[in-house]
Amino acid sequence: MSWALTPLTEEQLGIQRVARDFALREIAPYSAAWDRDAYFEPALVGKLGALGFLGMMIPEIYDGLGLDALTYLVALEEIASVDASVAVMLSVHNSLPTQMVLRWGSDAQKERYLKPMARGEQLGVFALSEPEAGSDAASLRCQAVRDGDEWVLTGTKAWVSGGAHAGVILAMARTDSPGDRRGARGISTFIVTPDMPGFGVGKKEDKMGLRASATVQLVFDGLRVPAANLLGEEGMGFIYAMQSLDNGRLGIAAQAVGIAESALRHAAAYAAERRQFGKPIKEFEGIQFKLADMATRVAASRALLHAAASAKDRGEHMTQFSAMAKLLASETAMWVATQAIQIFGGYGYVTDYPVERLFRDAKVTEIYEGTSEIQRIVIARELYSR
Ligand SMILES: Cc1cc2nc3c(=O)[nH]c(=O)nc-3n(C[C@H](O)[C@H](O)[C@H](O)COP(=O)(O)OP(=O)(O)OC[C@H]3O[C@@H](n4cnc5c(N)ncnc54)[C@H](O)[C@@H]3O)c2cc1C
Repeated sequence: MSWALTPLTEEQLGIQRVARDFALREIAPYSAAWDRDAYFEPALVGKLGALGFLGMMIPEIYDGLGLDALTYLVALEEIASVDASVAVMLSVHNSLPTQMVLRWGSDAQKERYLKPMARGEQLGVFALSEPEAGSDAASLRCQAVRDGDEWVLTGTKAWVSGGAHAGVILAMARTDSPGDRRGARGISTFIVTPDMPGFGVGKKEDKMGLRASATVQLVFDGLRVPAANLLGEEGMGFIYAMQSLDNGRLGIAAQAVGIAESALRHAAAYAAERRQFGKPIKEFEGIQFKLADMATRVAASRALLHAAASAKDRGEHMTQFSAMAKLLASETAMWVATQAIQIFGGYGYVTDYPVERLFRDAKVTEIYEGTSEIQRIVIARELYSR
């Protein structure tokens, strides 16, 4: 059951089926336990890699599948409808580090880092945020100082999804000096690996939702990064990060659509089974109106997401579309999950049914890769910039 409006090709439908089957077989039976125990299953990386799901938009010459964004996002929706924690790992890896190395990396960097990420041998993560720099990411403080053929990085990166299991970390740090601050133009991006001297994993966050995704601080204590691991041009790292978030936000929108779809599906099924006053509760108009509004918002979110993905695939500027898709889908996920709990009544409030997890997982989609307030700022700014 899926309320897709965009006609999908046979290939897209095929990949959607592969994603759904994998999620139902390899993830669904364990999701509740992973959530309860806040357990990240490392074996998933290899399994998803074997299917090509960690190189979905990487060209075949770099060992990826070379698919378009729409196909990738359709697959991501399916995984998210079963487990949002697995979906965020896929979303970050496919939308951010891999795309950054593909777009701005040197040939040597692509050979050394992109190929293993595409094959699923190494998980890629994105380290922009810091404890004091969230929405105002350009205020980050992690400092990089050049020392011969190396950069020495000192600082703490916060909230890194998958950071404890990463093979490749795309990290932003200041390359301007304290006496010559250049704002966003003083930030560069580095390709960091956990074997570099000075790398450490710090506090693991104890989260409300998305508990099977390990979110950690990364501590760079005089981390020594070879100069060859600077990505692209010095001073352009913040621009790269912002441009990459246009892709990332589509991934989070797909995650949110998957969560919302799942909440709708569970609520519709429960409303058909649960009887009160001598009939299934789906026969009450009050419940029908809720389900109708839920289905309408899910369909609208998916339609906007697919339109934004298609714009990206046509190579169009999609900063505004991507922010709109993320804003609508994440607020829809939160709203639909809330309605689903209402339809379940008391049973929605306990862990016997999956809707309380969907509710907890939905919330973060309104926060990361730019809060809803930041998406509105981006959308409004774009109204005047073109
Ligand atoms: C589970 C999880 C995973 C994450 N994964 C990653 C990751 O992999 N990599 C990474 O780099 N980061 C990651 N993040 C960080 C995430 O992107 C930030 O939490 C987010 O950008 C918000 O920053 P903040 O939490 O510091 O909130 P703040 O920026 O402190 O915001 C607090 C509140 O103020 C509002 N606000 C701030 N500025 C404005 C403004 N100008 N106008 C109106 N309202 C404003 C915000 O919208 C919010 O409501 C993750 C976060 C979480 C919770």
